[in-house]
Amino acid sequence: MQNLKENWSKVLNLLEKEVTAVSFDLWIKTLEPVEIKNDCLIIKASSETAKQRVLNMHSSQIKLVLSEVFDNINCFEILNDEEFEVYNKQQLEVKCSTEEVPVKVGQKLNPKYTFDSFVVGKSNQYVYAASRNVAENPSGKINPLFIYGGVGLGKTHLMHAIGNYLQAKNNKLKVVYVTCEKFTNDYIDSLRGTNKDKSINQFRQKYRNVDVLIVDDIQFITNKMETQEEFFNTFNDLYQNDKQIIISSDRPPKEIATLSDRLKSRFSSGLMQDVQSPDFETRVAILKKKAQEENYNIEDEVINELAERIDTNIRELEGSLSKVCFYANLLGKKFATMEDLNEALKDDQKDKSQLSPNVIIDTVCKYYNVSKNDLIGKKKNKEIVDPRQMCMYLITELLDLPLASIGSVLGGRDHTTIIHARDKISNAIKTNQKIKIEASDLKNMILKK
Ligand code: ADP
Ligand code: MG
Repeated sequence: MQNLKENWSKVLNLLEKEVTAVSFDLWIKTLEPVEIKNDCLIIKASSETAKQRVLNMHSSQIKLVLSEVFDNINCFEILNDEEFEVYNKQQLEVKCSTEEVPVKVGQKLNPKYTFDSFVVGKSNQYVYAASRNVAENPSGKINPLFIYGGVGLGKTHLMHAIGNYLQAKNNKLKVVYVTCEKFTNDYIDSLRGTNKDKSINQFRQKYRNVDVLIVDDIQFITNKMETQEEFFNTFNDLYQNDKQIIISSDRPPKEIATLSDRLKSRFSSGLMQDVQSPDFETRVAILKKKAQEENYNIEDEVINELAERIDTNIRELEGSLSKVCFYANLLGKKFATMEDLNEALKDDQKDKSQLSPNVIIDTVCKYYNVSKNDLIGKKKNKEIVDPRQMCMYLITELLDLPLASIGSVLGGRDHTTIIHARDKISNAIKTNQKIKIEASDLKNMILKK
């Protein structure tokens, strides 16, 4: 702005030499520079008469002088009072609508979810490396990046970490993070707008005018054709314009029943990377890091016990950690001990003790749509045997029951049958993605997560 004023006084000095004194005093001196827009200088005149005079009599002189003083201007426009008001209003509207974009599109990135606060172990080293690669080199080799894996294993954390990293490196980059649910709701809202065409256009502008689009929990995509279509088009538009896309889900695309085939194939065209349950060492490392971040003092024994007890969901691990520390704090203790752990997790154990073989049997029947009689009966067809074996496996996993009594609740079977089923399913989980997901879905249903 300062520059514009300085330059404008140079312009006046030069023009003073070019035009008559009367013209200069009456018309030229009263002009005011407003701003430079698209290589054009916007000038305000005090009246329509002044505008016309200047345009008719001094246009070429002004042009010449402007090109001498400014090196980025190749035209000018003069506005009278009324025109200036309209112009101002338009600029304000444009400003508001562009300022609205970052507020309205997507959701905030959590500043705590960074690469630094992410603990890397065997279970997540590949997904970490892929995320880092995308953050350092967006729209590079990995596009789209599709991250999948169970609940609470750090997918959202990594996606925010990518967003935070990119934003810190370049705050002009438009990074948009949305959950699939929010994307869908935004789209549905736009269909409901009073001026449908306008609101759909606005929606498209919002989601297609970005450099990096991060969509979390795509498994919640509805099977409504319109939403899928919109998502497909958004995806294509961004992809074709070399924009980075990052998607997460609790399972790989081919297992999302509601996802259309063409989206499945689009998502699979980049890198699909899973995040697995952390091993014991990683769980301990995560607990130690969180304790440090939150300034919790905890005995190692407590950390180990927590890592031992909670072996899949990291969110749960964190929750239990803060619960334990809460109890220690309550008693004004400096260190959380095993005593606090037992108090804090008492209720969780109670929940577990309410679990019975029947709850597991009922859930398995519901999940696979088989009757209880068939499940505990003698039928040998695959449709029944598979759920039966899964049921045996789940009971051994979730309950501390002697094998013989498991056999007896399942139609009086021998303990070797139970061992066979248990080993078969636990091996299958390692190699067969479908069985792994079924087991995890069932566990979540049974434990009501
Ligand atoms: P998901 O999206 O996979 O369900 P989140 O990303 O929400 O899981 O992670 C759940 C919680 O666990 C978050 O608070 C996150 O910070 C934490 N978390 C997950 N993985 C890690 C990790 N490797 N290191 C540190 N914290 C983690
Ligand atoms: Mg998540």
